[in-house]
Amino acid sequence: MSDDTQRVAVVTGASRGIGKAIAERLAADGRHVVCVARSEGPLKELVETIRSAGGSAEHVTCDLSDGESVGAMIDDVVERCGRVDVLVNNAGITKDGLVMRMSDDDFDDVLNVNLRSAFIASRHVARPMMRARFGRIINIGSVSGLMGNPGQTNYAASKAAMVGMSKSMAKELGAKGVTVNVVAPGFIKTDMTDILGDELLKEVAPRIPVRRLGEPEEIANAVSWLSSDDSGYVTGQVLVVDGGLAM
Ligand code: NDP
Repeated sequence: MSDDTQRVAVVTGASRGIGKAIAERLAADGRHVVCVARSEGPLKELVETIRSAGGSAEHVTCDLSDGESVGAMIDDVVERCGRVDVLVNNAGITKDGLVMRMSDDDFDDVLNVNLRSAFIASRHVARPMMRARFGRIINIGSVSGLMGNPGQTNYAASKAAMVGMSKSMAKELGAKGVTVNVVAPGFIKTDMTDILGDELLKEVAPRIPVRRLGEPEEIANAVSWLSSDDSGYVTGQVLVVDGGLAM
């Protein structure tokens, strides 16, 4: 459990990939990190790793596709820890398919996890953050939401909407010391890109100005800065971390 002065960060989708790297980095930065996802085993392992490195963390299992559970999870963290200073809405899914074949369910499922859960979690942290006159909400978007991508109508819609949502919230909450920003990754080495296969990833790399896929830790670096005191004059922005892909 956190002590009274330690800042508390909630990271969704922390069981693997980018979310795991963000949780480890924020713990190394001295935060008490609440690691959220559905899979309890990997979350427990992550908390152990953080604690053995001298950090502070706990895990909470939550299915973010269920809006009521998202709100209850955040309220519970606020009650137990007394505060939430940083919220990283990172959990995300893809259900790719060409638009003519994309089902309503595949559209709704992606919007529910990627966008609606971020909205609900943000709404629930807004009051305690405003009361504390400090808050950092960081939403993990995607270059797909900026450029579009064939086969990703649902996913790109969720990530593009996240930008408008973040800018609107930034305008509402800025006066109370709460910033809201988006980090938009390009191709990062995780399970999400693994399913694309080696061949496609080999084709992609030469199109990226820095000529390689990104590492989850490189997204965590950006989130670390946006969650710090140093970034207090930056809000409503999209920080693209993609090796130059979307220029
Ligand atoms: P992964 O597929 O590796 O991890 C996704 C995470 O989200 C897991 O921890 C998973 O945990 C969690 N999650 C998924 N569905 C739910 C749910 N219903 N409830 C709770 N947690 C859930 O993805 P990445 O690490 O690659 O991606 C992280 C974020 O970065 C996503 O928002 C993604 O869109 C974005 N992004 C990734 C890029 C990439 O190249 N990898 C590029 C651009 C953006 P569990 O299954 O245990 O619930």
